[in-house]
Amino acid sequence: MTGTGRVSILMYHQVGQFAPMREHRSTYCDHRNFAAQMAWLHRLRYAVLRLDEAIAGLRGERPLPPRAVVLTFDDGYENFCEYAWPVLAQYGFPAMVYLLADRLGQPAAWFAADGRATPPLMSASRVRELHRAGVDFGSHGLSHQRLAQIDPDVARQEVSDSRHRLEAVLGAPVRHFCYPYGSYDETVVNMVAEAGYVSATTCDRAAAYPGQDLLRLPRKAISFGDNLAGYAWKLHMKNQPRGVGC
Ligand SMILES: [Zn+2]
Repeated sequence: MTGTGRVSILMYHQVGQFAPMREHRSTYCDHRNFAAQMAWLHRLRYAVLRLDEAIAGLRGERPLPPRAVVLTFDDGYENFCEYAWPVLAQYGFPAMVYLLADRLGQPAAWFAADGRATPPLMSASRVRELHRAGVDFGSHGLSHQRLAQIDPDVARQEVSDSRHRLEAVLGAPVRHFCYPYGSYDETVVNMVAEAGYVSATTCDRAAAYPGQDLLRLPRKAISFGDNLAGYAWKLHMKNQPRGVGC
């Protein structure tokens, strides 16, 4: 069976209250904008799918509904609980949150390289609490490394060990991966396949279509500067022309 339609996999990072910034804008979303975006998806009857549901459509196992969207959240910030999940729960929208298995309950230490304050990441108990409430979790590795640029043996551990550790935290299978910084190459994709993941998301900015390589899923980054018109435009566009990058 050949599938039809397409799905926009949206990429969020932090949702909360932030001072306006010039850099890293695609990794922040003001909580009021987020609430407006979710209300807009609801009002226009977008089909907000779990990642597993979207993958069934991309595999051609079932039709993708019109206006199909998946909401993904990278890194597992604690502010997801305060600002994103209550809004998602209000509409019954599912979410995929990608966690760093070695960093649960710790600050996002990699922010320090840019001189930024390090926001807290969810603890293991918080992850379990949200999992019981219906949030889906995937792996973002152990410690937020550029997998295509580091020693392959270390990269393999990031990919494989993170899955096992998160499965121990959740008591459930972890089947989805997300490349930190969107850093991947053929070798890294093979590692993800060997570790048994069903899908992996990138920072390549486009909609996903049936037949898409599930270990190279494109996404659309939602930026701090997006108003509702910009948001609607990103959902509509086949490709997001600002290219690759998180
Ligand atoms: Zn990340």
